[in-house]
Amino acid sequence: MAEQALSPTPSGPFYEGAVPTAWRVLGDYAGRLKVGIALRFLQAMFGGIPVALLVWVVDQLREDSLTTSEVWLVTIATLIAIAAQYVTWYVSNYLTWTNTYYAVGKARIALLEHVQRLPLGTIRSQTTGDVTTAFSTDFETASSYISNGLPALFGAVGLPLVVVIAMLFIDPPLAAAITISLIVGVPLFYWTNREFKELALIRGDRLADSSGRMLEYVQGIAVSRAFNRTTDRLSQFGRAVASIRHINTRLTIRLLPVAVLTIGVIQLGTPLAVGVITYRWFGGAIDAGTALIFLVLVLRVYGPIVALAPHIELLRLGDAALERIGRVMDLEEQATSETPTVEPQGHAVELEHVTFAYDSATVLHDVSFTARAGETTAIVGPSGAGKSTILNLVARFWDPNEGAVKIGGVDIRELTSEQLFEHITFVFQDVYLFRASVRENIAFGRPDATDAEIEAAARAAQAHDFIEALPLGYETLVGEGGATLSGGERQRLSIARAMLKDAPIVLLDEPTSSLDALNERAVRVALQALVRDKTVLVVAHRLPTIRSADQILVIEEGVIAQAGTHDELIDQEGGRYQRLWLDRERASSWRIGAAPAVAGSTAGSAEEGTE
Ligand code: ADP
Repeated sequence: MAEQALSPTPSGPFYEGAVPTAWRVLGDYAGRLKVGIALRFLQAMFGGIPVALLVWVVDQLREDSLTTSEVWLVTIATLIAIAAQYVTWYVSNYLTWTNTYYAVGKARIALLEHVQRLPLGTIRSQTTGDVTTAFSTDFETASSYISNGLPALFGAVGLPLVVVIAMLFIDPPLAAAITISLIVGVPLFYWTNREFKELALIRGDRLADSSGRMLEYVQGIAVSRAFNRTTDRLSQFGRAVASIRHINTRLTIRLLPVAVLTIGVIQLGTPLAVGVITYRWFGGAIDAGTALIFLVLVLRVYGPIVALAPHIELLRLGDAALERIGRVMDLEEQATSETPTVEPQGHAVELEHVTFAYDSATVLHDVSFTARAGETTAIVGPSGAGKSTILNLVARFWDPNEGAVKIGGVDIRELTSEQLFEHITFVFQDVYLFRASVRENIAFGRPDATDAEIEAAARAAQAHDFIEALPLGYETLVGEGGATLSGGERQRLSIARAMLKDAPIVLLDEPTSSLDALNERAVRVALQALVRDKTVLVVAHRLPTIRSADQILVIEEGVIAQAGTHDELIDQEGGRYQRLWLDRERASSWRIGAAPAVAGSTAGSAEEGTE
C-alpha cells in the first residue's frame, strides 16, 4: 500500500464543520453536554431576571407606586435569580467539563486504535508530527473548544436573543436598529472566521512539522554529534520554529484589525440604539422612563456579545484543531479480518505475483516464490534490491499493490492480526528496547510467560549470563534512560524475545554490524537456536548462512534473478549468484575462522561478508 500523505483542506468524512464534528467526538456524552449548554443558556436567562426587575422598578418609580413589600419582593427575587444563576453555572460547568474530558479521553483512545490499524507506511511517512500533534495539542484545543468555547457561545447569545425578541413586541423600530447592528457584524465575523481558520490550519501543520523535527533532533542527537552536525540540525529545527513565529505574526497582523473592526461594528450598535431611543423620545414616541428602560436593555444586548470576544479565537482554533484531527482519522486503515474465518494449513510462506511500491517507484515486480515450511530461505542481492521489502510484506507492515502473500495457503489479508502475530516473529537489525526491565523486554511478545520460560529463552539466546551480571539482573531497566547494553547484547535480548514467542515463521534481517568475536559467536549460536525447525526467511549477509540455506533467492532490482541452492547456483558461470558469492568471499577474505552458521551449517570457513 502506498503511503498516504495528509491531504490539505478540504478533508474527508470525519470533519463536517466544527459543531457537528464536536458532537461526533462527544459520542455518547453529547446528550449530557447539550444539557450543560442548555443550562448555560438558562444561566444567562437568570442573569436577565434582575434586569427585568430593575426595568419594572424603574417603571413603578416613574408612576410613584412602589410599595415597601414590593421592594422586599424584588430584592428576594433578585437574590433567588442570582442563586439560580450560580447553581446553573455550577451544574453547567460540571456537565460540560467532565463530559468533555471523558469524551476527549475516549476519542484519544479511538485515534490511537485507528493509528494502530494504519499501514506502517502511513505512520512512518511525514505524518508522524501530525499524529503526535493531533494527540497532544489538537485534542487539548478541541477540548477547550467543547468545554469552554461552545457553552460560552450559547451563553452569550441567549440573553441578547431574548431581549431582542422582547423588544420586537415592545418597540419594533428599536428592535430593528439593534438587529441591523448585529447583522452587519455577521458577514465580518464569517469573513474573519474563514481567514483565521485557514491560517490556523497552516499554523497547526507547522507546529506538527516542528514537533516532528524536534523529536528527530533529540533522537538523532548522537549521530548529529558524531558527525559534528548539531548546529546544522538545530538550525533546521530553528527554521521550523521561525516559520511558526512567522505564521503567528501573520495571524496577528492580518486578523487583529478585522477582529477589532467586527467587535467595533457590533459595539457601534450601542450609540445607534441610543440615537434611535433619544430620537424617539424627543419625537414623543416614548416617554423618558421607557427610554431609560430601553437604554438598560440595550446594554444587556451588546455586553455579552462583546464579552464573547476572547472566546472567539478559541472557537476558531478549536475548529481548526478538529479539522486536523479529522485528517488523521480519515487516513485509510489497513483492512483486516475481525474474526478468524480460516486457519493457515502449515507454515509455508508464499509470494504470488507480488508487485509493490512504497510510493511511486515500483520496488518489487511480479515476485513469486515459496518458502517451504521448516526450511531456510536466504534472500540475497545488492543493497536496495528489495530484500527487506519482502520481509516487510510478509509481516504485513505494508500490503502488496498486486498479488498476494500467503501463509499456509491463506492470503494474510484474510487473517486477523492475532492470527498473523501468532505465526510470525521478526528479528530486526536495529533492536528496539522498550524503557522497561530486561524481563519485560523479553516477555514483550508473551506477557504471560513465567520466569522460568523467560530465563530459558534468555539462556538459549546466550543472554542469561550477561543479564545476571547486570546490577539488578532481569529487573534492570533498559531502553531509553536504562542500562547501556552493547550491540551484541541488545541483539541477543531481541533474539530471546523472539525465542520466547516461539512462532513457527521467523523473519530475520541478519545483523550486518560487526561485533567483537565473542559477541559475534554468541549471536550466531543464539540465532541458530532461534531458527531450528522454523520456516525462516532471512535477509542474509553472512556466507555460512547463505551457503547452508535450503533455498537462495537472488534479488536484483525487485525481481528474482536466480533461485536455487548454493550448489546449484555457484556453478552457473557468470551468474549473478556466483559473482555475488565471489565478491563477498573476496571482501571477507581478511578474516578467517570457521564458526557455526545461522541455519545450522557446518560448512564455510570464509566469514562475514557484509554489503
Ligand atoms: P534491500 O533490503 O535489498 O537493501 P529494501 O527492500 O530496503 O532493499 O529497499 C528497496 C527499495 O525500496 C530501495 O530503493 C529503498 O530506497 C526503497 N524503500 C525502502 N523502504 C522504503 C520506505 N519506507 N519508503 C520508501 N521507499 C523505501
